[in-house]
Amino acid sequence: AAKAQGRNNYRYFTASMQEEALYRRRLGNELRQALGSDQLALHYQPIVDLRSREITKAEALLRWKHPELGFIGPADFIPVAEETGIIVELGDWVFRQAARQVAIWRREFHPAFQISINKSPLQFREQGNDIHSWIAHLRSLGLPGQAIAIEITEGLLLDASSTVTEKLLAFRDAGIQVSLDDFGTGYSSLSYIKKFDVDNIKIDQSFVRNLSAGSDDMAVCEAIIVMAHKLGLEVVAEGIETEGQRKLLMDAGCDYGQGILFSMPKPADAFAQLVSTHQEATQRPSDLLV
Ligand code: C2E
Ligand code: MG
Ligand code: MG
Ligand code: MG
Repeated sequence: AAKAQGRNNYRYFTASMQEEALYRRRLGNELRQALGSDQLALHYQPIVDLRSREITKAEALLRWKHPELGFIGPADFIPVAEETGIIVELGDWVFRQAARQVAIWRREFHPAFQISINKSPLQFREQGNDIHSWIAHLRSLGLPGQAIAIEITEGLLLDASSTVTEKLLAFRDAGIQVSLDDFGTGYSSLSYIKKFDVDNIKIDQSFVRNLSAGSDDMAVCEAIIVMAHKLGLEVVAEGIETEGQRKLLMDAGCDYGQGILFSMPKPADAFAQLVSTHQEATQRPSDLLV
């Protein structure tokens, strides 16, 4: 009986692996069309200054609304985009969308508004001389490098090849800030942070999820914040869902927060609405604030 069951499991396993492979192939084929249509969009999530409550930054998160399969998240299609190589074009599209949007929000909201975009390690390695075309593109929109930040993960820094180092330096030379995303989940070696000279660190949401006073996660967050500040880096905490988490992180000296407590990632028009309402509220005299 055990053997029969094992065989069933095996059959089930291979069937689902085949389905998975077919699904990925389908996504790979259709992603190219999606890129030329209006199926892809960037959603924006505010990065909130924990002390002033100002919103002067946002993270751009890619969304794919597939005509038949419905909404597909980046965790599903970014790996496919990497396998098929379309990631380079996709990354370029994300950059141009974000640049166009940040130019508008610098005029409408804040002259120093910044949008951060994610770059996966493979995307980063494959990107050819695009850095220079990106910089030229920003210049053509009248934007300084500071208008855009790139979020990379620690995995990239493990690859200490000179091309990675050179590309990171080229971004930083152009004023484009480099953020270390999902900090604490990878290798988190202090030597990487020093060596690559990033501008800020994003504490991974896994440390924020169960945050409570005196917990191990709290100790980790506090240590990251102290270390980052000593190195002259700013800290963003990701995945803030509750007022309690916000308060603990603010009291620990964390600079910025991001998460559904403030807002879900939203389409550009809804994000703009959120920021204007928020600006009115924070600019009102404090006695009017509840
Ligand atoms: P990430 O860069 O770490 O982005 C944060 C993720 O946490 C986003 O998931 C966001 O929607 C989610 N999130 C935000 N607030 C909360 C919260 O309060 N609680 C919880 N539980 N989650 C929250 P999303 O949008 O599904 O993106 C997943 C990942 O896909 C991103 O992780 C990023 O690594 C990647 N990604 C997204 N857009 C792009 C892109 O344009 N290019 C590349 N290469 N990767 C992207
Ligand atoms: Mg990110
Ligand atoms: Mg993250
Ligand atoms: Mg992540």
